[in-house]
Order: sequence, then C-alpha cells, then structure tokens
Amino acid sequence: MFEDDGYSLDTLAVRAGQVRSPEGEHSEAMFLTSSYVFPSAAEAAARFSGDSQGNVYSRYTNPTVRMFEQRIAALEGGEAAVATSSGMAAILSLCMALLKSGDRVICSRSVFGTTTALFGRYMEKFGVRVSYVDLTDMDAWKGAVDGSTKLLFMETPSNPLCEVADIAALAELAHSAGAQLVVDNCFCTPALQRPLALGADIVVHSATKYLDGQGRCVGGVAVGKKEIMDELVVFLRTAGPSMSPFNAWVFLKGLETLNLRMQAHSRNALALAWWLDEQAVVEKVNYTGLPKHAGHLLAAKQQSAFGGVLSFTVRGGREAAWKVIDSCKILSCTANLGDAKSTIVHPATTTHGRLSEEDKARAGITENLIRISVGLEDVEDLQRDLLRGLAQL
Ligand SMILES: *Cc1c(COP(=O)(O)O)cnc(C)c1O
Repeated sequence: MFEDDGYSLDTLAVRAGQVRSPEGEHSEAMFLTSSYVFPSAAEAAARFSGDSQGNVYSRYTNPTVRMFEQRIAALEGGEAAVATSSGMAAILSLCMALLKSGDRVICSRSVFGTTTALFGRYMEKFGVRVSYVDLTDMDAWKGAVDGSTKLLFMETPSNPLCEVADIAALAELAHSAGAQLVVDNCFCTPALQRPLALGADIVVHSATKYLDGQGRCVGGVAVGKKEIMDELVVFLRTAGPSMSPFNAWVFLKGLETLNLRMQAHSRNALALAWWLDEQAVVEKVNYTGLPKHAGHLLAAKQQSAFGGVLSFTVRGGREAAWKVIDSCKILSCTANLGDAKSTIVHPATTTHGRLSEEDKARAGITENLIRISVGLEDVEDLQRDLLRGLAQL
C-alpha cells in the first residue's frame, strides 16, 4: 500500500508492511502461532502446493514476520526481504541458496569475523572458494574476479577502522563478471545508506544491531530481487533458521524510530570524534565524519550521515587501552553495537582476538585501539566518562 507510492523513508519506517487483522488493531499484532487452520481440505492442498498464498506454518510464513520483511524491504528499496534467526543465518541462507561447489566468493578482509569463519570453515568445506581482498583496494577486487565468481561480499564502513568502499564501482565490477554484489548494511542501515539504489544486488543485516536499536533481540534479514529472495525462502522452509514472530515484532517497532536514532547516533559520534581528536593522549581517530579520514568524501557521497561507530588509538599499548575501558562508568564494556547504550570494546582481545598476529597487523587492529558504538546518552556525559581513563595515561 505504502511501498510503491513514493513515500519517504520516515513514512515507510512507520507505515510500510502493516496488515491489520479483522480486529482493527492500530499497532502491529504479534502472531504467536506455529500453524494455521485451513478453511477446507482443498485450501490446505492449494497452500501446500503453492497455488494459494495463505499461511502454512511459521517456519516460513508468519504475518508478523512478513510485516517486518515488507517494512525493511520498503526502506532498502528492494522487491522483497527474508527474515532469519540472526544476521549470520541471513548470510548462511544466502550462501546456501546461491552458491554451489566450484563457485568463488570474493570477500573484503574487514568483514565481521564470524562471516569470515562461515566462509572459511563451512563454505570452503563444500567446495566454494573464497578470496580475500582489502576493502578499499579496487585493483585487488578486479584481480580476484574470475569466471567462477558468483558473489562479491563486503561491509562499508568497515569495523572497527571505518574504511569506506565504493558501492557503485563494486556493483559495476560484479555485474561485468556476471556476479552479484552483497552489502552487509548493518553499520549504516537504510536510514543512512541504500546499497540497492547504488547498484548492489543484495543487502544483508544483523537486525540485532541498529534495526532493533535497544539491544533486545537477535535477528537478521536479506533484501533484494524477489526471484533471489524466493530462493532464500526455499532454504528457510527446508532448513529452518527462521525469525521468531516475537523478535519480528520488536524489530518492527525498532524500525519506527530508526531514522531518528541513526541521526542522533551520528550526531553524537561526530561530536565525540572531534573531541577525541583534540585529546593529547589520543593518537588517531577513525571516523568517516572527520574530514581528514581517508573515506570521508566517499562516505559523504554515498551515506546521508556518518553513523554511530568510531575507533581510536591511545598513547601506549594494551594496558593503556584497558585502563580507558575499565575507567568507564557509563559506557558498557561489551562487544555489541547499535544500541541506545554506548558500548566500548578492545578489538584486539575480543572481536578480533581470533586473528593471527599477522592478520591483526594487516587489518590495523593494534593493541592500543579502542572501539566505541556511540549511543544516545548526552555526549558531554560520555566525554566525562572517557576523560576519567584518558587523564590517567
Ligand atoms: C553482528 C554482525 C553480524 C552477525 O549478526 P548476528 O545477528 O550477531 O548473527 C554480521 N555482520 C555485521 C556487520 C555485524 O555487526
């Protein structure tokens, strides 16, 4: 109803996808039911064969999950979406639906660590070959593409260094090789960046992060052309990594405030980045909103704001970084991000702890690096919280 009428993001975030039951509920209903009663045996047969579109079983058809799928599809500007039990389940479903033995995936080195583990431990085991390239090295992407390449996979901005890749250029490269570009849009969300409009074929999300926005539920979603999403639904129906209706309801409510939250996260992160940049004991701030950041211009072109995640290095090593983290009373020491609550983490010993020393060095994950997901608290309070530790260095 709202999806095709040219409504803006803010309207779609609140209205798209809602279907009211005969009760006329104003807020989206939560359909906690595993199965559905068929009005007749003939209708049951038609639904099982696919001749009729009604609900069958909540492993792959649930009205609350469908409302979430349609709302996020509208926000990303995609034809369809498939919700999954986690962000990783969305990426797994994509791989299982689209790849076969002998195919190649080209993946940026800086993607979420578990994504690399999924490709390395499981996709390779089934004969899918994966090549890794530096996110911003266009020549490396070009050099890695071959006749068997099916997917190019990346995140921009990257975690935790906020490197930025040119989505339109990578989409063109993928298409010239008959491959598809997948963008993990977790850090920006459609409020700040819409990869499909820039030429990408598929967007994946960890809904666990900003789509929820308040750290309550784990979930994921993929968005793209209907014929591709139909393939994912077949996998979901067969293998079952489905989103629960309860989580879908939480995410639906999260989407209603997505743009407001992303603007506020971005505002706070920008203020904090400028402030950190002025601190004598801070060596370098990685945030695309700072004009001196290497990805600033590209981010300004393909994003509407710079997002809520930044990282910085302090003078000293692990001990100094840990001192700053341990001195915080407001910022939570947790690896999660995209929460109203600010979080602070030491990547070298947590999120990137599984990398070899060589890979860490290559990825810029130094012992003095700290990552912050800037939440919605007052930014001066956050500064005071950080200053307690910074003042000790
Ligand atoms: C968290 C995250 C994932 C994985 O999502 P889960 O919901 O934790 O399974 C994938 N990509 C990025 C960029 C993430 O931050």
